[in-house]
Amino acid sequence: MTTPALCAACPAAIPFADILPWAIFGGLLFAIGLYFVGVEQGAAALFDGAKVHGFLHDGRHLLGFPCH
Ligand SMILES: [Zn+2]
Repeated sequence: MTTPALCAACPAAIPFADILPWAIFGGLLFAIGLYFVGVEQGAAALFDGAKVHGFLHDGRHLLGFPCH
């Protein structure tokens, strides 16, 4: 007689080494997004002009970053 499974669709364990590259990639995308939404203005701007700032302006206000 077999014991019944504890759950019908148990998730498979994912090794940490398989998650690490995706965690680094996701963290990098997050950092880039955070930079462009939150910091890309003034002295910290990588691009001249206000095109990037203007393009992300609504997102900046939506997330509560100080702007003007
Ligand atoms: Zn603003």
